[in-house]
Amino acid sequence: MDIAVLTIGDELLSGELADTNTRRIARLLSPHGYGLREALCVGDQKGDIEEALVALTARRDVVIVTGGLGPTADDLTAAAAAHAFGLPLETSDEALRLIRQHFTRLGVDMHPRNDKQALLPQGAALMPNPKGTAPGFSLKYQNATLFFLPGVPAEMASMLEESVLPALWQRQGGQPPRQERLLKVFGLSEPRVEELLSRQTLPDSVQLAFGVDFPLVIVKLRCARPEAAELLDRGEAQARQALGDFVIATGSQTLAENVARRLIDSGSTLAVAESCTGGLIATWLTDRPGASAFLERGAVTYANSAKQDWLQVPEQILVEQGAVSEACALAMATGIRRAAGTRLGIAVTGIAGPDGGTAQKPVGTVFIALSAADEERAKGYRFRGDRHQIRTLAACMALDWIRRYLLIRHPL
Ligand code: ATP
Repeated sequence: MDIAVLTIGDELLSGELADTNTRRIARLLSPHGYGLREALCVGDQKGDIEEALVALTARRDVVIVTGGLGPTADDLTAAAAAHAFGLPLETSDEALRLIRQHFTRLGVDMHPRNDKQALLPQGAALMPNPKGTAPGFSLKYQNATLFFLPGVPAEMASMLEESVLPALWQRQGGQPPRQERLLKVFGLSEPRVEELLSRQTLPDSVQLAFGVDFPLVIVKLRCARPEAAELLDRGEAQARQALGDFVIATGSQTLAENVARRLIDSGSTLAVAESCTGGLIATWLTDRPGASAFLERGAVTYANSAKQDWLQVPEQILVEQGAVSEACALAMATGIRRAAGTRLGIAVTGIAGPDGGTAQKPVGTVFIALSAADEERAKGYRFRGDRHQIRTLAACMALDWIRRYLLIRHPL
């Protein structure tokens, strides 16, 4: 099936906004065995949109369009599609009902201009937009199917998953052409992951592919057979056996999400003391809602005085061993855990660079410590990379310490 993406918006061509929708669509389709043949971007000129729609429809089976479904004068996608395919525009009562329902849910008065979003080409099939105002729609023209989605990335993505993917499967007898499982690995190099997996005999029709999403190695198990689910279950179990507890998450889950789930499931609470990671760990843990169930506090203690004031790190440690030391990391973890009264305290201190390194403690020197009633542990690392990579590695390692601590005490 040949799929094209058409993104619409002046701001995408002026450099104001990067087109992330095309990448997101490609990434959402890929696990199901669909690839993009073509991606095109046009501005908010009706003629350009029409021309692109006609051209793409002539040479592709499926065209996924994003943007220009809003209520303002520069939102011209529906009108352009109607004109391009010689269809009258008409108000869809069902679209109007969905738009009104959205505003009622928000408790906001609907502006009369929003009526425009219910004006669709005749014959369009509606696709609900659970996250926003503008419903999407699909159209069939000659042999092609077109899906029109809003430009807002979160709305576009959820509609792609909930409406477009099932419609693509429908075109192919209800089955995705391929299924995929993702295993995310932290702490092993890509060649090492490959070597460990090569010792397993995976089911014949399960193919392996590798990727890197720094600092993770991504293992993809793919299968294009009708019984893919069962074959992938077997393949995944074998891969997990080979990779053991280096698998930090599966599918779209992140390391922080996995740690959050384990903290919640085990009824554990956490406090975080960060120096060189500057709040990265707390940010990742609070990216998803629900962190208040386990995160008591996070402190960014950059200066020595902050480490003393907030974490009661003894002055002697700072003077004799320095802020970047095993003893300081441990004192930070213990200090934040005591202050917060949590089950766990985690701390990171290090030199992210590019300046600040010495012969004894070069850039990339990072100490991580974990404090719990039944365990106190600290360790030094020499991470390689630029400032961003060192901070990312340090934050991932700290989260992985928590994951491993809980894995042993509360195996799922
Ligand atoms: P709205 O109802 O918000 O007007 P829309 O369907 O008309 O939605 P646009 O107005 O084209 O969509 O875009 C809305 C917002 O979505 C843009 O301001 C931009 O932030 C984002 N957006 C649009 N297209 C893209 C894209 N291709 N990549 C990333 N972000 C995009």
